[in-house]
Amino acid sequence: MQVHSYAAMEKGGKLQSFEYELGELGEYDVRIKISHCGLCHSDLHLIDDDWQISEYPLVPGHEIVGEVEKLGNKVSSFKKGDRVGVGWQCGSCLVCDQCKAGYENLCSEKKKTCVGRYGGFADHIDIDGRFVYQIPESLSSAGTAPLMCAGVAVYQPMKHFGVKSGMKVGVIGLGGLGHMAVKFAKAFGCKVTVFSTSSDKRGEARKLGADRFVTDPNDERLNGTLDFIIDTSPASIDWDRYMEILAPLGKLCVVGLPEEKIEVSATSLIGGQKLICGGSIGDRNSMKAMLKFAAEKGIEAQVEVMPMSKVNEAIDTLRKGKVRYRVVLEN
Ligand code: NAP
Ligand code: ZN
Repeated sequence: MQVHSYAAMEKGGKLQSFEYELGELGEYDVRIKISHCGLCHSDLHLIDDDWQISEYPLVPGHEIVGEVEKLGNKVSSFKKGDRVGVGWQCGSCLVCDQCKAGYENLCSEKKKTCVGRYGGFADHIDIDGRFVYQIPESLSSAGTAPLMCAGVAVYQPMKHFGVKSGMKVGVIGLGGLGHMAVKFAKAFGCKVTVFSTSSDKRGEARKLGADRFVTDPNDERLNGTLDFIIDTSPASIDWDRYMEILAPLGKLCVVGLPEEKIEVSATSLIGGQKLICGGSIGDRNSMKAMLKFAAEKGIEAQVEVMPMSKVNEAIDTLRKGKVRYRVVLEN
């Protein structure tokens, strides 16, 4: 069948209508009729070839929600009409040590939904059903699409690195990932401090659940106050300064992808036995746990829904830093 999608034809280019033929459905594949797809900052990195892995025509989109239309003959976990989601990852080897230990997200043969294949800014997609997730009934499709990447990318590292009730958590950057981090950390029972470069987000940060909103990280009263900081900014930050803001044994977890190297002084690590760590989307069990938790707590992304045909307008809004807090494209 023919798929209608939107593709960048060159580095940094505007997206254009792009049709392509879907091949035979693989035996483990699920054909999804896409209803919604979120626009993540990683899609911008890909369009701009920031990571030197982009191939054009490039169909971005990896925060997909839609309806199962067709099933490969080895798929038993879904039926036609199920509402499902797909995130950044759409495959792994399933046999290496990482996969066997439940860290498919760390598999060296990890397959990505919109790298080396066409992604979710489209009306249909075929995805390995082992990387497709049932969407809980109580969650809306538009509000859940961003959970598939932004949601799990902050939920998984917070869980993995031991964030729990009573802890003091900092979130750097109030965007797609950042606002999900605020919602999840709050739901875990943490005190949440947002570090933002946009003073006009103060009121909304409070509404999202933040206890404190900081635009000047150099305020000395912050020294040694936070147990865990998650950095969701695509821009570089003053690493040593945020290490100072951590309490002894604190952890700074990087999920945003700045181009520059991370530079910290040895003393800022040694003094309080602090840790710098990273988060890489999430494994399949974390994805399921995150969706279950979101349904229990009524957590969805705060979204601006736009028709898929306005994808270039959506990209411009994101480039200008004007999105509050995720654009979701709708078919
Ligand atoms: P986003 O919606 O654009 O939000 C990023 C936020 O960072 C902005 O809202 C802004 O918040 C802050 N920021 C500070 N300086 C900025 C600058 N120069 N340009 C843009 N934003 C700036 O992006 P996102 O979708 O949350 O993605 C954030 C980063 O995470 C990207 O680098 C993305 O590739 C990466 N990512 C990583 C993973 C992973 O698994 N590790 C998964 C998905 C995405 P304030 O206005 O509050 O300062
Ligand atoms: Zn993403």
